[in-house]
Amino acid sequence: MPSPTGKTSVSRAFVVYVAFTVALAAVVFGAFSWRLGWRLEPLPLFALLSAFVLIGELLPIPVPRRNGLTTVTISTAFAFAMLLRFGLAPAMWVYVASTVLADAGRRGSPVKVLFNAAQYALAISAAAGVLALAGDQPPWTGIVTSQVPVLLAAGGAFFLVNHALACTGAALVAGLPIPRYMRDDLEFQAWTAGCLLAFAPAVVASSHSTLALVPVCFVPLLAVYVGGRQAAVNSHRAYHDALTELPNRALFSETLQAKLALAEREQRSVAVMLLDVDDFKTINDTLGHEFGDSVLQQVAQRLQSAAGDGAILARFGGDEFALAIDGDPRQAQENARRLLSSLDAPMDVEWLSLNVAGSIGIASFPYHGRSVAELLRHADVAMYRAKASDVSCAVYAEEYDEHSIDRISLAAQLRRGIERGELEVHYQPKVPLNGGAPGAAEALARWTHPQLGSIGPDGFIGLAEQTGVIKPLTERVLEVSLNQCRLWREEGLDVTISVNVSWRSLLDHDLPATIRGLLARFELPSSALCLEITESRIVADLRRARRVLDELRGMGVRIAIDDFGTGFSSLSQLQQLPIDEIKIDRSFVTHMETDPSDEILVKSIVELGRNLGLTVTAEGIETEAVLERLRELGCDFGQGFHIGRPAAADECRSYFAGLDVLPSARLTAVG
Ligand code: C2E
Ligand code: MG
Ligand code: MG
Repeated sequence: MPSPTGKTSVSRAFVVYVAFTVALAAVVFGAFSWRLGWRLEPLPLFALLSAFVLIGELLPIPVPRRNGLTTVTISTAFAFAMLLRFGLAPAMWVYVASTVLADAGRRGSPVKVLFNAAQYALAISAAAGVLALAGDQPPWTGIVTSQVPVLLAAGGAFFLVNHALACTGAALVAGLPIPRYMRDDLEFQAWTAGCLLAFAPAVVASSHSTLALVPVCFVPLLAVYVGGRQAAVNSHRAYHDALTELPNRALFSETLQAKLALAEREQRSVAVMLLDVDDFKTINDTLGHEFGDSVLQQVAQRLQSAAGDGAILARFGGDEFALAIDGDPRQAQENARRLLSSLDAPMDVEWLSLNVAGSIGIASFPYHGRSVAELLRHADVAMYRAKASDVSCAVYAEEYDEHSIDRISLAAQLRRGIERGELEVHYQPKVPLNGGAPGAAEALARWTHPQLGSIGPDGFIGLAEQTGVIKPLTERVLEVSLNQCRLWREEGLDVTISVNVSWRSLLDHDLPATIRGLLARFELPSSALCLEITESRIVADLRRARRVLDELRGMGVRIAIDDFGTGFSSLSQLQQLPIDEIKIDRSFVTHMETDPSDEILVKSIVELGRNLGLTVTAEGIETEAVLERLRELGCDFGQGFHIGRPAAADECRSYFAGLDVLPSARLTAVG
């Protein structure tokens, strides 16, 4: 028989309910357990049935159910048989004593022990009451046909009282509507506990025949167990995600519906959150599905312990998790931050230690929707908003709806645009400040949208990263710019090309092969290519990117850290990185002549780079004074509007052709 799960935090309503049930049971117990006489003949049968009741209580079978674990015990059948064979007083004593012993052995909370004892005392008394009303008081010396309807009625009363008492307690603990809880559980209980009860008359009948038949009754009871357990396993499968054992979308929606109904009545808010694991597709694609599964299991475990009691956590498939937590939007944001920080510590999967992050979208009942479907849709829109704006968590707002549609269609247009050749590459010269080395150009992507016109990288790189379009984009920029490099070299310009590579592309294990193929196709040495990776990203995801970086560097491709100074790489991390160059972020360079602290920073970075044997490039040179100062500091390369703005290939070529660092013979050739 079910019993309310032993949760630690119980509501006031539950305490009042338990007090009432226990008081009622005490009255019934006091009134009947002493007054009715004891007839324990035959004693061996009494002992055998008592032992079975106790064994049943001591060995409950755990059965996984939609709402967690429930237990089924066979003590019911034997307790009912005792009632029929020996009367209420012995049956009640044995039943109550067995449950108290078993619960105490399991160290159940005193409230739970008391409640279970009261529940059993009332259930068996209800059955005895029906027998008394029918004028057919036990003990029964045999069962005749006319007694069968009375038997069924008594068994029914036993079942219903037991079921109603247990479900009410469990529903109060779970904060769910009582009638719905009873209705939901009825079928399962009828098939398990109901069938067990129906077997009691057979136990009684066989005891009249011979005592030896009573233990045989155990066998069919076991069959009931196995069947019930299998049914429960099937029901569990239908409502749970096999990988994480969390509820699935169907169960989440059902439970949320009930939670919303309760919140509506009690005028409370409920936050619905959708959490998406950042870059999970890349983890899965590059490291394999088993690896991905392991990450998802760890994410599920961490979210579960961070979500706390009372929250509903589910997995919707893929890398999407859903949560429903009581509280207004402000509390929801605090909860979301707590959930996200539970993912902060690196996850150890096989030989790797991964940094996993997530994005959460929040929609709150009743502010952002009243139905499950509406709240989930709005949480989804908010989640995309969080991803798009690079914040880890966003609360739904009406205006996001339009943006989310815009974003999706823009990403699709970008993908098509790349295929149609709408993506252009501009080149910004990067020149040696102290002579000697050949010139270089940084490839910068531009998108000419058919309606919106020219869009800079800030308008589409983030979008491409979040929607997977970054892969074809990077390949396209690499192809166009390496082709350009080949053309320039054919003209005699000894130029190398720097291409920006998103950190996401570094998780793409195909990247080295793609680059190797392009270098071979354009007959370029690998030293002609430098890949620029933004500092903050490379440090955060170094473990993941390491394999691809090492392979590229092994091929002879140069690696530069872009926007250096904006991230938080420590010196030791810098030393471990397989890099050749650092590019000082333009925010320190542009104003270094007027801001002494910027100048100190730039000077330190130049020295650091030199000491580590790295090439140092300064970005964002806008004046001659800054250029001169950088030259004095010994910075190797310079890049900026003062030297040359990003421009189409022809314009950039004219610039290189005019540089005096190039051999004069070549200048004549290209002039
Ligand atoms: P970045 O790699 O740091 O590129 C330099 C950015 O600084 C360029 O902006 C350039 O126009 C700008 N810039 C250069 N000199 C100066 C200057 O003197 N003053 C000022 N104020 N700005 C200067 P852009 O072209 O808008 O690119 C922005 C960022 O977009 C790039 O920063 C890079 O991180 C990213 N990006 C560009 N193309 C691609 C690409 O093909 N793939 C990827 N993954 N990212 C790209
Ligand atoms: Mg760059
Ligand atoms: Mg930069």
